[in-house]
Amino acid sequence: MAEVIVLGAGIVGISVAIHLQRRGRSVLLLDRREPGSETSHGNAGIIQQEAVRPYAFPRDLATLLRIVGNRRIDARYHWRALPGLAPALARYWWHSAPERYRRIVAQYATLISRARAEHADLIAASGAEELVQRQGYYKLYRGGAALEAALADAELVRAEYGIAHGALDATEVARLEPDLRVAIAGALHWPEPWTVRDPGALAAAYARYFVSLGGTVARGDAASLCQHGAGWRVETRDGPAEAASAVLALGPWAGEATGRLGYRLPLFVKRGYHMHYRPAGRARLGNWLYDADNYYLITPMAQGIRLTTGAEFAPFSAPPTPVQLQAAEGVARALFPLGERVDAKPWLGARPCTPDMKPVIGPAPRHPGLWFAFGHGHHGFTLGPITGRLLAQRMVGEAAPVDLAPFAAERFLR
Ligand SMILES: Cc1cc2nc3c(=O)[nH]c(=O)nc-3n(C[C@H](O)[C@H](O)[C@H](O)COP(=O)(O)OP(=O)(O)OC[C@H]3O[C@@H](n4cnc5c(N)ncnc54)[C@H](O)[C@@H]3O)c2cc1C
Repeated sequence: MAEVIVLGAGIVGISVAIHLQRRGRSVLLLDRREPGSETSHGNAGIIQQEAVRPYAFPRDLATLLRIVGNRRIDARYHWRALPGLAPALARYWWHSAPERYRRIVAQYATLISRARAEHADLIAASGAEELVQRQGYYKLYRGGAALEAALADAELVRAEYGIAHGALDATEVARLEPDLRVAIAGALHWPEPWTVRDPGALAAAYARYFVSLGGTVARGDAASLCQHGAGWRVETRDGPAEAASAVLALGPWAGEATGRLGYRLPLFVKRGYHMHYRPAGRARLGNWLYDADNYYLITPMAQGIRLTTGAEFAPFSAPPTPVQLQAAEGVARALFPLGERVDAKPWLGARPCTPDMKPVIGPAPRHPGLWFAFGHGHHGFTLGPITGRLLAQRMVGEAAPVDLAPFAAERFLR
């Protein structure tokens, strides 16, 4: 019999399961699908060591007006979703005010600064080295003024958090990616992040490592979770499973489970799409490139060149509306010789978000033996392993290097 049931086998749940199993707890990791096949598969695969600042809600009027126009590539919304989203978005806007945001960044940095080292541990342990590149990623700018502003901002991040960056001029960008076909003024290089050419495969490798430690992976529906005596019980394909503790690591689906348990957490999602392309002719993409003027990434993934889009504010369950993908694809084809689409239809996923941009990590306030690990927003692929370590340490009563108080669910329930 397991001692802990972890619900959700994305990068977060898998990492929690590994760190508990390493600490001698027997863990059952439950998902309705194969481990690592949802959001943790469809993302841009960047382990974002540089991302000390989570994405704030824009506060300047010009950007707000452009968003209201609803024609941007980086952010769009479903009109009909706005009434439902408004309370969470209002809180998101509130938390993004400069003074509050500064405090949030300082707390967020305690996680991000440890994220890459935690991946390094799991990459080595799971033998997944061949999936990882260690040359950072590049933000491309067509205009010199925008590039200068980005470099000045990167300088602030270096001064405050010691995160290195580099600058490339037009010639260096052309040498780096000879197949680009528009004039680029230059690029901001973040050398410290690592990139993963198949994020789902990395999560799956971590899950196999979990099994090699003696852990169990099971199929089942997290909706079957219920209290059972002093512990918890779920239905798996192989029958019921019971344990003293349970961890909710359901990513963008966490709100369904917490809602059933009576928690009114202000969770929301930012949907995002991806599509894979063959390169046209002999064109070759060597690096992860962010088109900073148009807010999308193109990345050389195992499945083809993956284009990922920005944020769509819509209920997770609403039908796909991949207009941002369509718009980004048009610009991307002008930037780089993309050939035909590889996938029959765009992949749709969702970043699990909270209004204060911080994940929820810690005990469930009103249910003994229940723990939360979700809400990792734009950086969950990066933050999975550090979340796993910190939550496991907290659960077994081990001293941890990070104070989890800023990530407690109570902050939304006062
Ligand atoms: C387009 C896009 C690009 C991104 N790029 C990056 C990036 O470059 N770097 C980065 O750090 N982050 C990135 N992210 C964010 C990152 O992908 C997510 O934050 C992260 O994957 C969340 O992981 P998770 O384990 O919480 O959720 P998930 O990976 O979604 O895992 C949740 C699991 O719960 C399971 N589940 C749900 N409901 C049930 C149920 N009822 N019963 C059983 N199982 C259930 C699902 O099947 C799933 O396996 C990106 C996100 C998107 C959408």
